[in-house]
Parts: sequence; structure tokens; C-alpha cells
Amino acid sequence: MPVASSSPPILPAVSASSHSRSLRSGTLITGYTEQGHYTEATCTKEQPTKPLLVRGAHASYKYSQCSLALPLRHLSIKSSEMESGNLAENGHCSDAAGEPRSSLILLGTGCSSVVPNAMCLIQPSDPPCNVCFQSLSLPPERNPNYRCNTSLLIDYCQNNGEHKYILIDVGKTFREQVIRWFTFYKIPQVDSIILTHEHADAVLGLDDMRAVQPFSPTNDISPTPVYLSQYAMESIATKFPYLVKKKLKEGQELRRVAQLDWKIIESNHEKPFVASGLQFVPLPVMHGEDYLCLGFLFGEKCKVAYISDISRFPSSTEYVISKNGGGQLDLLILDTLYKKGSHNTHFCFPQTLEAVKRICPKRALLVGMTHEFDHHKDNETLMEWSRREGIPVQLAHDGLRVPIDL
Ligand SMILES: [Zn+2]
Ligand SMILES: [Zn+2]
Repeated sequence: MPVASSSPPILPAVSASSHSRSLRSGTLITGYTEQGHYTEATCTKEQPTKPLLVRGAHASYKYSQCSLALPLRHLSIKSSEMESGNLAENGHCSDAAGEPRSSLILLGTGCSSVVPNAMCLIQPSDPPCNVCFQSLSLPPERNPNYRCNTSLLIDYCQNNGEHKYILIDVGKTFREQVIRWFTFYKIPQVDSIILTHEHADAVLGLDDMRAVQPFSPTNDISPTPVYLSQYAMESIATKFPYLVKKKLKEGQELRRVAQLDWKIIESNHEKPFVASGLQFVPLPVMHGEDYLCLGFLFGEKCKVAYISDISRFPSSTEYVISKNGGGQLDLLILDTLYKKGSHNTHFCFPQTLEAVKRICPKRALLVGMTHEFDHHKDNETLMEWSRREGIPVQLAHDGLRVPIDL
């Protein structure tokens, strides 16, 4: 079982070539345990940045999310450390005490059909799909290629120290994500929900919201606010009439259902809204030329843009989140579906990387991937791209936690 390590793990000697320079605070490192399990760690703020003792060091790193607190036999720098980068510049902002109090937890990083792709397992190709077949030998928590529907949980620490949990999208795999990551990160509840759009992979878990709400046979609990567009509201009223209509017909039995409080937001970046104390700016984007989907810009201390479903940026939206427009983002979380070519309703790798270059955030994480992406291999390639372009970009993975001050 995965364990969150509260004490720094002991790291083994690593080759000088992999760490010839010092690591900076906030740098993510990834590696494999001697059992071959994937794991990763974040260099903490308390650590001296220069020179950093990696060889045989302990107390140098603290795991942010790891599979096993076992010695690593191989380490690689995950978020490429830019020569001029520092903690804040790499998209990790922290308070004076060191560890940022808020964080982003990537509950899901996969496409609508998720990974592993069932067809790769029940009608395997010859040769079989390596990425999907991994799921038969590796448990999900040790498999960064196991991807649920894309979804983000914002653990927002308010000024009074109280934590609020804001969930963006509640897809088909919501319950599985709760069982895995709410338990791992000790998330006790969902305080508000924001929907990007009304497709199945963003809303079909709404029924399961009752699983994370207090039990009341009479539905007498305070409803969880759900922020969504008028268009999404109308679609959800058709998909889940029992979650929208509150009044029972005569003779109809009372049944326990999720209690939700629907709040319409405008698909307009000039109409921000506040959910659980945090302000969100809607970022309308094309998700197919006939369909408007929302991304969101949030965070005062560190600016984050989350755009999970996009095929094209309207220029006004791109301007708001660009370095040369509304100001440089600390972190951009962006859609990428396939590795090559293009797709009518999503960015694929080439369009995603082009957009990252234009927008020029301090750091970017990619989500929404199909089984075409092999986490470690493609992140190696992305590391080269990142060094060349000066923007650290990595594929995210389910369960990735990004400490950040909002
Ligand atoms: Zn596959
Ligand atoms: Zn969609």
C-alpha cells in the first residue's frame, strides 16, 4: 500500500552524471525503487540548494507522493530545473514556513475512455499495447500509465488556516478516484464543484457525490454548490433529473440522492465567480468548433490555468493567460489527447506544445492522455523539449500533488 512518508527517506548514491548540478527547492525527482516501482519526491524548501548532497544523502528530500519509501536505484529530475529558476519561478510557491499550505491534486489525467483501454486487454493487438498491459501486472498506485478521467482537486488553505476542497469535474471514474486519492491525501469532503462542460467524462460521477456527503435518509443536509454554465445545466437536468428537481410528485417515495445546489456561471472571462472562498475566472475555449467548454484561471499568489478539453483557443482567452497578455502563469494544466497529428475536439501533442510556447507559463503539466502516451518514456522526451524551450513541461499522472500557494 502506498504510504505518505512524513520523515525524509534515505536515498542511495546516484550517478554523478544525473546530478552534476545542485537541485533547487521544489524540484520534483522521479525514480524506481529496487523492486522496480515508480516513485517520486520533491526537494523541500528547508534544503540547501547549493551544493546539495544527493550521493547517499538523507534528509535532503521529502516525498510529496510516493509508492514506497524504499531506496531508489535511479533518479531523474522531473521538472527540469531552469538555470535561472527558483521555487516560485518553477510554479511552486510557498509561504515563509516552507511548505505551501494549498495544493493541487490531479485526481485523473486520462481521456474519456481512460487508460488502460479495455479493448487493448480483451482483444489484444499483436504485439500487445505495452501501456495498457502494464495494468495487469502493476497496481494502479504504482502505475503512472493508469489514468482515470481528467479531474482536479484544489486543496485551498484559506487565510484562517481552514482547508476547503474544490473539485473540478466529476467524471465516470469519480468514485474510484475518491477511494484512491481522498484516502491517500486524507481529503474529508468536497466543499464545492466546478464543471468544465457536460460530457460524460466530466459529469457522470455526479450521482456518486452522495458517497462523499453526510448520510441523511431524508436528504436533510446542506447541498454542495455546483458551478456550471447554463448549457451544462440544461444537459444535466436531462441526464440527472432527480439531482435537479427537488420536489416529489404525489405518492412518490423519498429516496436518498446527492444534494447539490446548482449555480450558473457565465462563459466569460470578465465574469469571475467565487467557490469556497477562491476566485475563478472562466476561460471559454473551443472543444470542437461547435462546442464551448470552460477552463479556469485561479490563484492570487500563484496563478494557475486549468484547461482540460480544448481544440482551439479563442484569442481573447489565450490573451488572458499569456505571458505577453494578462501576465505569466505559474502553472498551466493543459489537454493533450494523442501524440501525433490533430483531432477535431482536442489538442494533440503538437498543438499542446505550440500553445505552451505561445502562452509561456513558468511550468506546464499535461492531462487527458490516451494509451499512446507512455509516462516515463514521453517525460524523458519532454525533458529535452523543456531544456530547449526553457519551459518545464511534463505529463501529469493520477495522484500527482502539486504544493502551491493560491
Ligand atoms: Zn492500449
Ligand atoms: Zn468533452
